[in-house]
Amino acid sequence: MQCPRCHGMMVNEQVYTDQGGIDISRCIHCGDVIDNVVIFNRSHPSFEIKKVFRGCNMVASIPV
Ligand SMILES: [Zn+2]
Repeated sequence: MQCPRCHGMMVNEQVYTDQGGIDISRCIHCGDVIDNVVIFNRSHPSFEIKKVFRGCNMVASIPV
């Protein structure tokens, strides 16, 4: 697999968390990590996070 950021070589690894093991791909050049959550978020570019600023009614949409 090739890194989408730098086109370097990626290796498959398993990371263990409190909720069990997660399969990830890590770039050996730039360190970019890709897992299922990253793949989902990158495949839904229209998804936006709404951030409400404290003390005012302003809402900002932050494209992901
Ligand atoms: Zn990379």
